[in-house]
Amino acid sequence: MRIGSYHIHHYHHPLLLIQHALLLWVLYYHFSIEGIIIGLLAKELFKGLGDEIGAHRYFTHKSFQTTKFKENLLIFLHFFNMQGPLLSYIGIHRMHHAFSDTEKDPHTPLKGKFKVLYWLNPISVNPSMIRDYLKDSRLRFTAKWYYELYVGFSVIFIMLFGLIPYVYIFSFPVVLGLYLNGLVNIYCHDGRGEQDSHTGDNSRNKKSWLMRFILKGGNLHNNHHALASNYTTEHRHGEYDFFGRVIKKFFAIQ
Ligand SMILES: [Zn+2]
Ligand SMILES: [Zn+2]
Repeated sequence: MRIGSYHIHHYHHPLLLIQHALLLWVLYYHFSIEGIIIGLLAKELFKGLGDEIGAHRYFTHKSFQTTKFKENLLIFLHFFNMQGPLLSYIGIHRMHHAFSDTEKDPHTPLKGKFKVLYWLNPISVNPSMIRDYLKDSRLRFTAKWYYELYVGFSVIFIMLFGLIPYVYIFSFPVVLGLYLNGLVNIYCHDGRGEQDSHTGDNSRNKKSWLMRFILKGGNLHNNHHALASNYTTEHRHGEYDFFGRVIKKFFAIQ
């Protein structure tokens, strides 16, 4: 199995390009407010639960414990982000924390913002980074067949329900999620502004109301780098992490 090669998988960029084209087409010719609302809700499910709470805080950092059912739910929701296999995400993100803003960091903006945003740098993950998950048959299966599963699912959904619903429910969150990731990986690592904790990298907390609203706690990125094993990024009085509160209320078990 080729681990961690998803960002340069030969399907990745064409599929992402197709998602952009589909979204632009639908927004121009078939715009609907209902579609946008459904797309935003789907984004919260896939990107919020599947990606930020699931792939990031649960699987990569193991910052809380949850039930088997919720664990499987998070794996399922992460699939729809079209970021590639969860196993690759875990490895790449662990590399990011281990080597933040150095040559070995897979997505430091020091390597070029455009390249980082569109994952144009070849990335390969050392299996030692994901040793604890290499025997997980669910993650191995989705790592092996990710793109085939994604395309197969998309074709079946479009045949059953039509292209426009597909674009609002799936393409919209995929494209939005790409730029939200870019916002964290690039803007929250620009080295500008105050660094509340000295982490030795360029991570920063971005505290404007706009970043708080858009990233819902992910904007406290320097806090996250300071203590990645914490399920919440609220470290100080007055800080607010929406995802941490959702984890505490709906996912974490003692
Ligand atoms: Zn970071
Ligand atoms: Zn992290």
